[in-house]
Amino acid sequence: MADILFENTLTGRKEPFVPLHKGEVRMYTCGPTVYDFAHIGNFRTFTFQDVLRRFLRLRGYKVLQVMNLTDVDDRIIQNAAQRGIGIREYTDQYIQIFLEDCRSLSLEPPEHLIRATDHIDDMVRLIQRLSEKSLTYVSDGSIYYRISKFPAYGKLAKIDLSGIQPGARVDVDRYEKADARDFALWKAPKPGEHFWETPIGPGRPGWHIECSAMAMKYLGETLDIHTGGVDLTFPHHENEIAQSEAATGKPFVRYWLHAEHLNIEGEKMSKSLGNFFTLRELYEQGHKPSSIRFLLASVPYRRQLTFSLDGLQQAASSVERLRNFVYRLKSEKFPAGESSAMAARVAQAEADFQKGLEDDLNTAQALAAVFDLVRDANTAMDRGEFRSGDAPCALAAMEEFDQIFAVLPDDDAEKLRALGFQTAAGAEISDAEVDAFVAERQAARKRRDFTAADQIRQQLADRGIILEDTRDGGVRWKRK
Ligand code: AMP
Ligand code: ZN
Repeated sequence: MADILFENTLTGRKEPFVPLHKGEVRMYTCGPTVYDFAHIGNFRTFTFQDVLRRFLRLRGYKVLQVMNLTDVDDRIIQNAAQRGIGIREYTDQYIQIFLEDCRSLSLEPPEHLIRATDHIDDMVRLIQRLSEKSLTYVSDGSIYYRISKFPAYGKLAKIDLSGIQPGARVDVDRYEKADARDFALWKAPKPGEHFWETPIGPGRPGWHIECSAMAMKYLGETLDIHTGGVDLTFPHHENEIAQSEAATGKPFVRYWLHAEHLNIEGEKMSKSLGNFFTLRELYEQGHKPSSIRFLLASVPYRRQLTFSLDGLQQAASSVERLRNFVYRLKSEKFPAGESSAMAARVAQAEADFQKGLEDDLNTAQALAAVFDLVRDANTAMDRGEFRSGDAPCALAAMEEFDQIFAVLPDDDAEKLRALGFQTAAGAEISDAEVDAFVAERQAARKRRDFTAADQIRQQLADRGIILEDTRDGGVRWKRK
């Protein structure tokens, strides 16, 4: 089989993929910040990573994938404090919801799905290593990385550091290229904030150190692949390189793969713009998990994906077409015998499918191969030219395709029920989701925002959930 080519953000080129350890791929994926529901833009990137790992496995590689869960950051600390609960309790709910969402999209679980707050010691040790090499300094109890000490800084995001003020610092984790500055590895606690008592002082980790420490712990100091959405290239991944390579003296990542954004009405879908759909909103409107997965996977990851409800309808029809074809293969009585032309046609489709995916995971090209086969085989069936002996190999090809796209099993209703939706119209919601809304309402009551609290009660009532306020200020809930 031909080489797999990946476009590597580091070199800006398509390169043949050769893993460091024969037959095994070690890959790291930046996971979600678990402060809220993920939106379908986030799931575009997670679906790309799923397609990637499925393809590597189809090609015979053993995949060792780590995905982190960012369960400590400014928003988490703030929201948990507002609700009057610990960050662990706060993030537990959203981790649960994230896992349910992933299952609904048939995203394979990574070999290690790990929480940042379970790895504080690893982060502290990495910061100590950097300090021993004089790459850090302390200011007001926080520890910063001195980017001028790492000459390769900027190589991933291709930024020129000549105009950068040495010694200028940035405390927030997310900032723009123009603000490239010394960044916080360890943040001194602000009054009332959650912190850890450690050998490098009290505080909490910055976001970037989390991924360097966790990636190297499970995958070694040089990884094959690191993925994320394109917005993570800078500063997050640039900082990961600076931290890891300065500490080890080795290349951190050999192939950087970044997914382009999912846009809606010309803008990036994001929480802050408010232009997002969660999966559950779409499920509630009657859309199926398989249509969403198909839509997210169908556009090659290096191309922007423009989301629309029309596009989602088309995805649903495409999935239907595939399922109907498989149904026909399994149930129709074809004339006996087999045709060499059809065997050759199927083999061609399989080769084209692989060729598409080999080319930097060109899912559009791979799907075109599938749909061309479906069209030709349907035509042959209509003409009576498709033979019963052709069905097993056509079926085997469809099953191979589905190892990547994972939309053939007719399990949408079951998945929706698992999330608490009764029907496609979806009146019910899952327990974890109810708990999250109840906690939100409690927080609203606490800050005496009774309008917001009433709105949440009403929304839950509309979805069949009855709240009962208890005497001790707590809440019980039940389904109607
Ligand atoms: P976050 O929880 O914000 O760290 O994001 C989780 C993942 O979703 C990251 O890999 C982001 O790059 C990715 N992401 C965020 N917004 C979008 C979007 N509109 N389209 C595609 N990926 C996104
Ligand atoms: Zn990360």
